[in-house]
Amino acid sequence: MREEPWLTRPNKTKEVLRKYGFHFQKKFGQNFLLDSHVLEKIIAAADIGRDDFVIEIGPGIGTLTQYLSYYAGNVAAVEIDKNLIPILEDTLQDWDNVEIISGDIMKMDLRKLIDERSGGRKVKFVANLPYYITTPILMRLLEEKLPVSSITVMVQKEVAERMQAGPGSKDYGALSAAVQYYSEPGIAANVPANCFIPRPNVGSAVINLRIKPEEERVKVNDEELMFHLIKAAFGQRRKTMLNALKNDKRIPYNKEQILEAMISCGLPENIRGEALALEQYAALADALA
Ligand code: SAM
Repeated sequence: MREEPWLTRPNKTKEVLRKYGFHFQKKFGQNFLLDSHVLEKIIAAADIGRDDFVIEIGPGIGTLTQYLSYYAGNVAAVEIDKNLIPILEDTLQDWDNVEIISGDIMKMDLRKLIDERSGGRKVKFVANLPYYITTPILMRLLEEKLPVSSITVMVQKEVAERMQAGPGSKDYGALSAAVQYYSEPGIAANVPANCFIPRPNVGSAVINLRIKPEEERVKVNDEELMFHLIKAAFGQRRKTMLNALKNDKRIPYNKEQILEAMISCGLPENIRGEALALEQYAALADALA
């Protein structure tokens, strides 16, 4: 029999923090979850089952980790804060399908980590993310094309909304385009600040990104060029796309070439980057290349 997760029992988190004299570190984005309903929602959104290999980013004192361990086949939990490692060794001592890894998720060789532990399965990433590096973490997981089936994360509510936003919306940006190119995003729950200790200053949301197999993605010959176009266009979103692209070092084309490609795609000269759908960026990249 597996252990029942117990860190969300009333006062348990505070008891563990007191026992170890733990001090929250703002620089690591530490806001620990307290609410069992939210944890169940994360498990349901990620659709965790006994066959799954899960990587958790930032286990904290192990609250979500206990739930993951209870439902998944095996779990690797990567924590940057060395002060949390002895606490995790204590709170997870009865969960024998969890490996605690001390390190920085941004510096780790994730392909190696997955190859060595997944037994050929695709990984599910699950996390209550440290909000200070939400975008770099997600971009890394998406762009490295690791063998991942889904990413289910707690993020700032506005960031979750940005990931789902489409053309014409003020929330639509480079993150929306990248997330929607690689995955199908869906917000699973909104989570108020009182579900965390300490309380964050912002509302939060759980978002699930189902990674698209290659054949489901928007077709483009030069993916790198398409993302250069997207980043350049959104980097200067108050300018027309033509003006933003013509001055950007990442774009190896002059104004005439860009305009010619835009015309061949039926795009007006004064269009802004935020009006273009992913398919139109792909067509523009193909026309330029
Ligand atoms: N999972 C726990 C929970 O839900 O209660 C803690 C979540 S807390 C929002 C974020 C966690 O990520 C903290 O434990 C923090 O120390 C850790 N962390 C921050 N930056 C990290 C990084 N670069 N690599 C790995 N862990 C990191």
